[in-house]
Parts: sequence; C-alpha cells; structure tokens
Amino acid sequence: MSNRLPLIAGNWKMNLDHQQAIALVQKLAWTLNDAGHDYKSVETAVFPPFTDLRSVQTLIDADKIEFSLGAQDLSKHESGAFTGEIAGSFLKKLDVKFVLVGHSERRSYHNENDEVVQAKTAAAFKHGLIPVICVGETLEELENEGAAAVPVRQTLAALANHAELGEFVIAYEPVWAIGTGKVATPEEAAQVCAKIREAIADAHSPEVAAATRILYGGSVKAANVAGFLKSTEVDGVLVGGASLDAEEFAGIVRFQKHISL
Ligand code: PEP
Repeated sequence: MSNRLPLIAGNWKMNLDHQQAIALVQKLAWTLNDAGHDYKSVETAVFPPFTDLRSVQTLIDADKIEFSLGAQDLSKHESGAFTGEIAGSFLKKLDVKFVLVGHSERRSYHNENDEVVQAKTAAAFKHGLIPVICVGETLEELENEGAAAVPVRQTLAALANHAELGEFVIAYEPVWAIGTGKVATPEEAAQVCAKIREAIADAHSPEVAAATRILYGGSVKAANVAGFLKSTEVDGVLVGGASLDAEEFAGIVRFQKHISL
C-alpha cells in the first residue's frame, strides 16, 4: 500500500441539471452512509457541469457531506472578452478543489493540444486548484507506439515550464476505453501508471512522483474497479458513465470491500 489517499472521481460530463445534481449527491451520500462508509479512507470527488456547481457546493457544505468538488474545465485566461469561458478564480470562489484539464473529449472536440493543456494547468496552479491532467492514447497510437508513449508525452508536456508545480493528479485514460465498455487490463493500466510515475520522477523529482496520485479511467464500474486498485501504482479511478448512478458509484467508492489484501 502507498500512503497516497485513493481518489475516486466522478465526471458527470454534460449530464444532469442543478436539481438532478442535488438529487444524485443526496442519494449517493445516503447510500454511502447506509453502508457505513468510512469517508476518511478514500477521497470522493464529483465533477458536475458548471451550472450545477453552486447547488452542489451549497448542499455538501450545508449537510457536511465529505465530498470534494471538481469542475470539468477552466479557461487559460484570467478574465475579459472570452465569451462562454469560466475563469479559475470563479471556480475557487465556489470551493472547487479539482479541475479536469485535457480530457480526451476536450482534446478531440475542442482541439485542445498539449500547449492549451499546459496553459490550463498553469491557470489551475495559479488559482490554487488541483488539475486532474487527463492523458491517454487512441487505438491508432496504441498500435503504432504502444500504450505508454503518448500518456507519458502528454504528462510531461502539461507539467513543463511552470515556475513551480502545485499539487496535481494524473488520470490515465486510454481514449479507446472511454465510454466504450472496453477496458485496459489491470496489468496494462498499472504498467502505464508506473511509466508515468517514472517519467515524473526523471523530469521533476522522485518526491513529486511519490506524492502524485495517478488514476485509471475508461469504462470503470463497481464490478471491475477492484482489479485496477489492487496495484499500488493506481491511486484511484476517474469514472464517467457509472458516476451518474448513485448505487453504482457508491459501489466504486467502496472498492475496498471487493479487494482481498
Ligand atoms: C471519462 O469520462 O473520463 C470516462 C472515463 O468515461 P467512462 O467511465 O464512461 O468510460
């Protein structure tokens, strides 16, 4: 076991309005409470759409629910004439702790390249947000370069040229596994996470590498999560589709139940 606190993160993508968001968070908390969940054993974070953040923040604050709040994106700019964009400072004001950067859907549908991902990582650091830097290879890249090359390259690009690194999380998400029902094997996921950690140690420091949580993502469900989290290389999961179902996501959050150590 490493001393990194596992992180289970639910990316809701463009699903659920603010009322539905409240219902899901309440149901998730009730389900976990009923199961006697130990909130200190794992960090649980939800990443609702921007329009839900205020409602979810108010709920978890008022009911003292031990969930962390994440946003799905942020602007690389500070403020000004950038219609439709959301600044890191706005997120910070809402007690947002994490922000996804470089999710494969942003990279492919919004042409976010490594330069943009680096700039968004810098904006997150600047505002005291923890970027969850998403990296992963397409099927074509897997066939041409193997599994680790692209995620390692994307990780190093996102972490390059910062005066100082703040805390960050890496989410290794093979693009071919996102929303497809196809998953990497636990061994493949652990190998790529280990290579990413090695690369961070070489490019930055062994201390930074040892402190960084590296997650796996791509069609994770309650039924397959234990396999990924058995490896000490994998410090949690980033979950899309299955995070929209309270019972399924609670089953993922309570992954220890399925792991025989
Ligand atoms: C994701 O959106 O980051 C993701 C991993 O999605 P899914 O779990 O649905 O594959």
